[in-house]
Amino acid sequence: SLASKKLVVANWKMHGNLMRNQQLIQAYLPALAACTRAEVVVCVPYPYLAQIQTLLTGTSVAWGAQNVAKYEEGAYTGEVGAQMLTDFGARYVIIGHSERSTAYCESDENIAEKFMMAKRHGLTPILCVGETLLEREAGVMERVVGKQLETIIRLFGGEAFAGSIVSYEPIWAIGTGLAATSEQAVAMHQFIRESVAASDKTAADTLKILYGGSVNPQNAVQLLNQKEIDGALVGRCSLDAEQFIKICQAVP
Ligand code: PEP
Repeated sequence: SLASKKLVVANWKMHGNLMRNQQLIQAYLPALAACTRAEVVVCVPYPYLAQIQTLLTGTSVAWGAQNVAKYEEGAYTGEVGAQMLTDFGARYVIIGHSERSTAYCESDENIAEKFMMAKRHGLTPILCVGETLLEREAGVMERVVGKQLETIIRLFGGEAFAGSIVSYEPIWAIGTGLAATSEQAVAMHQFIRESVAASDKTAADTLKILYGGSVNPQNAVQLLNQKEIDGALVGRCSLDAEQFIKICQAVP
């Protein structure tokens, strides 16, 4: 994309505690401050937003959440609104992660509403899209990913993708140790950008497309060197400072 630096996003998922978070951030920080080629974001569980704000304010590392409510505010017990995230300095939010859409039956429409709610509050949404292994084997992966993007385009227009982030996360690659090859990732990234461009060319030019799914220090080098891959979303390896630093340093 024409957008600036490559982006590496840590997704801590439901891991951590006050002490471990602090240790992990302290282990990340010196190397990440020196690694100016990559832009780095850490997405934490809601209760640790205040802690991460304290730890990361004044550093080059930004932070975010892993979900957001589709409503502004109101009688939605257990939900967390976009305004609450910005209150704690969050600039990013992961939307539609497959671990959520599968476990909690999130529809593409719900995900689209959350995406727009994030944007309305100045948060950068990181929209996760991707196919299952069955869908890939059946050769319908582009149709599946296309439909996920299409829902947002249909409801809100292609301009919704301007300055946003899409993370291509094949479900068969998440947490399995089996990452997509760079050829598979590049092909889907091209498809994603073309799909957005078909609706809004300008938006497609400012869209960042990340790859996520078993990124590790070894495969990060090849993945992050592809011009079609604007960065990575990292789960497991973000919980190990040494591995996460190596992934960030793999940004060319
Ligand atoms: C993820 O959480 O989006 C992810 C890609 O996880 P992992 O890196 O562990 O596969």
